[in-house]
Amino acid sequence: MTRSEGADPRPELSAAFAHARRWLDGVAERPIPASRDAAQIAEAFPERLPARGTAPAEVVEDLVAAAEPGLMASQSPRFYGWVMGGTLPASLAADWLVSAWDQNAGMRDATPGVVAAEDAAARWLLQLLGLPADAAVGFTTGATMANFTGLAAGRDAVLASHGWDTAHDGLAGAPRIRVIAGQERHSSVDMALRYLGLGEPELVPSDAQGRIDPAALREVLAGVDGPAIVCLQAGNVHSGAFDPFEDPIAAAHEAGAWVHVDGAFGLWAAASPELHPLVAGMAGADSWATDAHKTLNVPYDCGVAVVADPVAMTRAFGHRAEYLIDAAVPDPHEHVPELSRRARGVPVWAALASLGSEGVRELVEGMAAAARGIAAGLAALPGASIVNDVVYTQVCVAFEDDATTTRVLERLLAEGEVRPSPSRWAGRGIIRISVSNWQTGEDDVARTVAAFERALG
Ligand SMILES: *Cc1c(COP(=O)(O)O)cnc(C)c1O
Repeated sequence: MTRSEGADPRPELSAAFAHARRWLDGVAERPIPASRDAAQIAEAFPERLPARGTAPAEVVEDLVAAAEPGLMASQSPRFYGWVMGGTLPASLAADWLVSAWDQNAGMRDATPGVVAAEDAAARWLLQLLGLPADAAVGFTTGATMANFTGLAAGRDAVLASHGWDTAHDGLAGAPRIRVIAGQERHSSVDMALRYLGLGEPELVPSDAQGRIDPAALREVLAGVDGPAIVCLQAGNVHSGAFDPFEDPIAAAHEAGAWVHVDGAFGLWAAASPELHPLVAGMAGADSWATDAHKTLNVPYDCGVAVVADPVAMTRAFGHRAEYLIDAAVPDPHEHVPELSRRARGVPVWAALASLGSEGVRELVEGMAAAARGIAAGLAALPGASIVNDVVYTQVCVAFEDDATTTRVLERLLAEGEVRPSPSRWAGRGIIRISVSNWQTGEDDVARTVAAFERALG
């Protein structure tokens, strides 16, 4: 065998694969926080761009050597920070192919392979989440942009119904849109409204779990006589609670308002008969936002925007709107803000194909069961109180005072076995636990409670 025959023609890919394997094989047992802080890691990257480049395989080695000590093991089954999912095997493999194939997923006729996979993923999502079968679906970077997408469709639709063409005339001089949201909506809703030129929402009081007060919402809606949008929430980041949907959606529609639901992680309750009561009536809204990189455990990044009326979607995002509204099948770029983008819906297809509807049900119910198990275990610790009703995947725990809560959290982070995140809710310091990983099991629940016990002791 000559030397060239034996040489690896793709040493950079082999190196990346070997490092990926090593990372994935160890990620469940390594300490969860990064071992160096941001300033230390920054020093590992050269200040000045070298004049001469480096061979691809060496670039991979340099990158791993510099960045890996700054990686957080967010794929660990005992990672509970913010709301971050892990990575299902099939979706990671599909994501690698998406990069290797390097298709621009914006145009159906140009890249039909990945567009058909995304269309299939969209169809399955609508079935799974009980949303209208003919709704328009767009794959975005995350729920922030999915909120933006749904709210953009809503903005243009409510203005159109008041005789105003936003695409043509812009917002200056348009009838004012009243945007109404619950006090405990996610901050990304405010960001999306800001990008859309709609300003801050009018806030309706929420109850102790963060659910919008339907009677108060009705009162506000009684005063609406122009274009309006109501933002509801499926899954509060602290309590996991769901807004009521049936009466708020009926009231909003009586007032001629568009209803958007932010269900970044909560929309997935619809995939479980056991959890479905949480989302009763939700399918009657006009648009929905969710993430695939949270509950569904596809790699970053992927969000999903769903708009019940496909015409409203293309009115907001169609490049040749008038002509395309009547076209049989719009292009994917007419469902999202981007023209060119990666085929991020393909890993969603792979995740759903690997799980099946039963697997998704087990995934979501497993997360909820783990949350209940952790809450029960923590509630038995001295001085601990569970601050929320654990109806879904979120647990908020506090100890006798803020100082103790902070001390417990600091010890947990230093030990690295579990990784919740801090917050303030209902006027006190809390430790937030978001069960969002496909691998979190009974053993992790026990190890989590034991880690809290050590941190408290
Ligand atoms: C995470 C989250 C968002 C924002 O999603 P990104 O994917 O981070 O853009 C919006 N709403 C809720 C309720 C969330 O949990």
